[in-house]
Amino acid sequence: MTAFEKISCPVCENTEYKPVLVLTPDEFLSETRKEYYDLESIGIDFNTPFTVVKCKKCSFVFVNPRLKKEYNVMAYNVGKTKKYSLHGDEYEDIHNVKDEKKLKQKRVYTEELLALFSMGKRDAVVFLDYGCGFGFSMIIARAMGMDCYGVDIDQYRLESCSRYGLKVSTPELFDMDFPGIRADFILSQNVLEHVTDLNEYLDFIRKHSREGTLVRVNGLTPAVIKKEKRAGKYKLVNPIEHLNYFTLNSLDYLFSKYGFKPIRYPFVIVSNVPRSLILKLGYSYIGHLFFNIVPVFIRTFVQTRNI
Ligand SMILES: [Zn+2]
Repeated sequence: MTAFEKISCPVCENTEYKPVLVLTPDEFLSETRKEYYDLESIGIDFNTPFTVVKCKKCSFVFVNPRLKKEYNVMAYNVGKTKKYSLHGDEYEDIHNVKDEKKLKQKRVYTEELLALFSMGKRDAVVFLDYGCGFGFSMIIARAMGMDCYGVDIDQYRLESCSRYGLKVSTPELFDMDFPGIRADFILSQNVLEHVTDLNEYLDFIRKHSREGTLVRVNGLTPAVIKKEKRAGKYKLVNPIEHLNYFTLNSLDYLFSKYGFKPIRYPFVIVSNVPRSLILKLGYSYIGHLFFNIVPVFIRTFVQTRNI
């Protein structure tokens, strides 16, 4: 079990938590994922238990103990590489979507992105996409005249971005490749749930922001766990890929430690869920989660300190 490490609550440093759920890969991996995940390479098997806990102090829900960063990256990257080699073509075509359902997703997402840009200052020009994937958002921002930068941990995606002439790097090499970048907009789409070291991540976000920078994040809430537990079928609750489940309170608390405060903005309603419910819960639906009706959050923060 050396692949695992026990951590204190990354949001509030507390060390007391209660278990929420124990699952094995056999239970949480779909048949397709079982095909491409190489568990052996990280020294675990289909019966290794993963525990999800809730912090007794701040209610943050997270996988603990969790795979150490290097094992997590290995599981994620090896898995993804195998996935691309099995289904490569459909990923190559991300900028040329022909599927009607995916096209609809892209349009809804584009509207959300344009809404974010319209909230910024008129002279805002630097855009940073942390977790840039295949560069879809950067291409939109670039078309609007912005200076765009992307960060990802996935080599396949980074290479794909480079082919489109996008300036991308890994979190570790970013500052060496692009020194002194401070963004006006930072986007981090479907990233938070994957982050092994949240404080290291927030440090990066703070370092590359300035006063007035808008940061848009989204992610999974603990309600996803309840929903999938009730259904007895796990998909988003995947303790290898998805480590963090935020309530808006725990999210706001974590971001406030780094000088950010949440801002209210008009929700773009992209599902048939009543607007009143979405406003009450603070949830909306975005990107690839749009067609799975699950509770996720979208939150925009503004940097308030000039550091
Ligand atoms: Zn906590």
